[in-house]
Parts: sequence; structure tokens; C-alpha cells
Amino acid sequence: MKPSPSPLIPSNTSLTLPPSLLPPFSPSVSNLLTANCVAQAMQKIDVQNPNVQVINIKKVGTQDRYRVILSDGTHYIQGMLATQLNQLVVDNQLVENAIICLKEFITNVVQDKTVLILLKCEIVSTHPVKIGNPTEVYKADVAAGSSNKPVGGMYDAPPPAPAAGGSSNYSNPYQNQASRSASGGGSAPTGRSGLSSNIIPVSQLNPYQNKWVIKGRITNKGDMRTWNNAKGEGCLFSIDILDASGMDIRGTFFKEDANKWFNVLEVDKVYTFSGGRLKVANPQWNKCKCQHEITFDRSTDIQLCEEDASIQQNIFDFSQIVKLESIEPESIIDIIGVVASISPVTSITAKKTGNELKKCELTVMDDSDAQVNVTLWGKKAETAENEFAGCPVVAFKGLKVSDYGGRSCGTLMSSAILKGPRIPETERIQSWFQNRGANATVKNLSTGGGGAGRVETFESRKTVSAIRNEQLGYNEKPDWLSFKATISFIKKDKEGGPWYPACPNAEEPCRNMCKVISTSDDHWQCEKCNKQYDKCTRRYIFSATFADNTSTCWASMFNDQALALLGGHTADELNEWMQNGDYDKFEKVFDDALFTDWIVKAKVKSELVSEEQRVKTTAYSISPVDYAKESRDLLKAIKGLQ
Ligand SMILES: [Zn+2]
Repeated sequence: MKPSPSPLIPSNTSLTLPPSLLPPFSPSVSNLLTANCVAQAMQKIDVQNPNVQVINIKKVGTQDRYRVILSDGTHYIQGMLATQLNQLVVDNQLVENAIICLKEFITNVVQDKTVLILLKCEIVSTHPVKIGNPTEVYKADVAAGSSNKPVGGMYDAPPPAPAAGGSSNYSNPYQNQASRSASGGGSAPTGRSGLSSNIIPVSQLNPYQNKWVIKGRITNKGDMRTWNNAKGEGCLFSIDILDASGMDIRGTFFKEDANKWFNVLEVDKVYTFSGGRLKVANPQWNKCKCQHEITFDRSTDIQLCEEDASIQQNIFDFSQIVKLESIEPESIIDIIGVVASISPVTSITAKKTGNELKKCELTVMDDSDAQVNVTLWGKKAETAENEFAGCPVVAFKGLKVSDYGGRSCGTLMSSAILKGPRIPETERIQSWFQNRGANATVKNLSTGGGGAGRVETFESRKTVSAIRNEQLGYNEKPDWLSFKATISFIKKDKEGGPWYPACPNAEEPCRNMCKVISTSDDHWQCEKCNKQYDKCTRRYIFSATFADNTSTCWASMFNDQALALLGGHTADELNEWMQNGDYDKFEKVFDDALFTDWIVKAKVKSELVSEEQRVKTTAYSISPVDYAKESRDLLKAIKGLQ
């Protein structure tokens, strides 16, 4: 290989392997290496997923951290694996001389050297030996050509520090002091006067920086929570911090730090934050955009700042309330509207923990002429009546959509609530609310109660096994689900037939529902309307099993569902056949119904049966499968998987 005079090789130069290395390696392996991508990365030139060779892997420090040396065959550079990549080394997937594709990385300056921090990579192949004879890339060599382009896709990486005496053309309002000070060589961010120049964007925070300052607005402050387990006890709370670049990050305080800061920090105020440990965020619990989160500790310093209009109050992506009808349950959404009413606070006992939970429901309406219930929990529920008195405009961020009672929304631990946000939407909603006619009708999406008003969609359908797997039926209120299943057994052998004699009075209070008793003189006595009748109306009642590919369940069937199942033959009709000895006709009705497919909407509730909790499933409605529609839905779902 012809050694390059400088690392600044034009990007179109292709790497040529030394002839001695070519055989026995296939040319495809040599082609994996993009020429000089290390040098390019150093220069912030966009390199789309460069392939590099890992020529050395070394565990450093007491913590599980891996230092790697990355080579493009011409130059090498030091790198660190972000902790989420450690497993690749542990699993022996990332081994020395392996060729990897860099998917996401950031650059950092440590001890005057630029280090690549690998956030995401893919193993391309293993390789028996080091390719080429790469030389180290020094930041001084590339600083002259430094540009300001982001590298590694989504990461807005810090620029390389300018070489001594050189100048950087980097024009970001943030300055990159913090990463330099991490080397100990630069000036540490001390003293108020120098603070602002040390502030870095939240996006630049990473676990390899010791000293950093960020400035942001607290958009959300969680309740103080406590834990008490075998390992001990303590308390914690979290805040979400939004910076001027629109990136937010979660920060958590524990124990004495939690006690120290909980009453000091206020939502919607702007602070500078420094000191604390950074780690990779768990997206399951942390909905902030930043991939890292902060654990604040004893070294943490937080200073209140003047209001800074360059930092938004929060970043919202509002959905119109009327549109929630077509939004899938479990979606996380933002809404803004007038809190028109507040329910009294109730408390429920959490099934898992046995803890009492306060709960309150707000009715929120917006200018899409629709309203929806929003459930608040805990402290937020207790203070709701004072907080939201007088029909204020309130923005809700990160609500979870549920199909309980039509459509409703619930707050999560991560949800933020902002009363009267300083955004144009507030004024728009306010004036709509004031100007709307007294008789204006608002569509209510939360019909309450659950069950009948539910929207059943293909997407929300579950399997029969969900009844057991999701432990349905153990809540205070019944659980509802819908599934597609085949009827596999009908229990029709009850003495006298799978029905009961009901009052023929179709009006209130009997509505053909209540049971009547046969009298000695062949009449029917109804206790409810207190009358005797010559005839009764027979209503089906029996159990049946529904099966799908996951499981089988017993379900109670009542008259309406049975009529649908049995082709409209009434219980009176079947009873007459029985009386006439037409057993074959009776049997045929049930035989015809067996192994037919249905969409079942069912209610699941556990009941105490001889001192044992048993889950009882009741078919609330059944409808035959529309195979054409079903096929369309399935095709759509398959497409969604691709
Ligand atoms: Zn009656």
C-alpha cells in the first residue's frame, strides 16, 4: 500500500490492500473497508455507515468498559464501546480483527486525542489478521479541515477541538468546552461568570464525560416515590429537562439528593445543571428524546436561571380530541383543551401492591367539538380540584389512550401537564370555549362504564389465551376483550333443555327476562310482576367452549348470543320439537352450529365459587366472521409486519 502523505485523502480514493495480503483473502473482504473512513469521520464528513476493522479490544478500568482500536487500513483511531455494546464482546461476536459497520457514533476529546464512542454497530465479518499497516490519526492533522457536519446519523456530535493555536470554524452557540475539560487539560467549568460558555446541548451528553453543564427547563417533575425492599429503603423522584435545541433528558435524584432538591426545583423554571452520572436510558420507562439519562448525586449543582424564551415550555404534538376515536389504544398522545369538569377523587386498591391509589377524572374538550375523559393518579388527582378550577386551558403531554368506555386517556408517570401554556393553541381554545353557543353539542368520546360502548377493532382483538395469560378478570371492574374463535362444544344436555322459562311480559319490569315458576295447575307464576300466565317464554342459557389456535375457554351464553349461534331458532321452537319427540331436529340445530367461526366480545370477571376465585367468561355478543373483511384486515396486518 502506498502510504499517504496526510490523512486528508480525497473521499473517492479506494483502499488498495497490500498484494501480500490479497491471497488468500477474497476480494470481497478487502472491499468491505471504505477508504479512509476514520480520517473522514475525524473531519466530520458524512460517512454513511463506514466499515472499519477492530484491531484491538481491551477491557479498561474496574467497570465494564471496552477500549477498541478501529482501523480503515490506512489510519487507526481509539474508540470506546458504549455499555450497550459490551454484550457483543462478552458473546465473542466482537473479536479482534473483526470488521464492523459503524451505525452510530460520536466523537469525544479525551487527553487531547479524539476518541470515537461507538453507540451502534454491526458485525460484518471476522478477519484473520490486521489489514494494512495503519498509522494513528492525530486530531491536529484533521483540525485544519474540520467542518461542522453531524456524523453518525442522528447524533449531532461535538466538533473536534481545534489544534493548539489553530482556529475552529465551528459556529454552534453551544461551545465544546466540557469535553475538552474532561481531559483535565482544559479549564474546568468553575465560577458563575464562565458558566454559560461551558454549556453544552443535551444531545452531547455521554457517559464518558465527567464535567458538563446543561441548561434547560424542567418540563415535568414526578411525585416523590419510596421503595422498601430486601436491599433497603429510600426515595426518589425524576425530572425531565428540555434544552434550547429541543432535546429533553430525564434526570433522577435518590435518597438525600432527592430530599435536598425536591422542594427546590419547580416545573417550568429554567436552571443550569452540572454533576451527575450518565447512563443509557431505558426507553420503556423514559420517553425523553435523549438516549441517555442522568443520575444526579452529591456532586450535582443546580442554579436557577432567568426566564429564557429560547427554551420552549415543552414540545407538544397535539392530537385533536375528535381524532382519538380512530387512534389505537395504548398510543401515547398529547392533547390541549379546556378542563370542563373534574370528578370527585376516588381511591382504588392496586391489585399488585395492595397500595391505595387516588384517582380523578377530568373532562377535557377542544375546538374539534369533542370531549374525552383524562384520568389523573396520585398527587395529581388529589390536587386536581384546586389546580384546574375555572375551566383553564391545559396541555397534556404523553397521555396513554385507552378504549375503556369508548375512548379515554390516562396519565403515566412520564406524562406532563401544563396549565395555560404560552403557545398560540391556548388562545385559540380559550376563545373557542368562550364563544361557542350555549347549546353547542360536544361529542363525548368517553361514554363511560366500559363494555357496550367499546370500539372493537381488528387491531385490538386478542387471542383466547389472553384471558389466562393477561390474568383478565381480577380487577375491580370486569375486563373486556374480543377474539375470533370456533365454537367447539355446546353444553345442551340440561334437563328440560338448555333454557329457562321467563315471564312473557315484554314490558318493565320483566322484559321477558325474569324467571317464572310453574304452578301446580300448569300455569306460570312471575314473582316480579306478580302475575300468573298460561304460557311462558323460554330463553336460552348454556355454556359453550370457544377455541382458537392458542387456547380454549368456556363461555356463558344467553338468549341473544344463542339465537345468533343457532340460526334464529328460538328456545320455544326447540322446546316444542322436544315435546313432540322431534329429537333429530333439535340435535341438528346444535350440530349445524358446531365448528362455526365467530367474533366474540366477552366479559371476564373472577367470582368466588366455593371459596375459590374462578374466572368466568360471558359472551356479550357474537357475530359471524365476515371472511372478505377478515382477509383484508389480515393482509393489512401482514403488510404492517414487513
Ligand atoms: Zn313478570
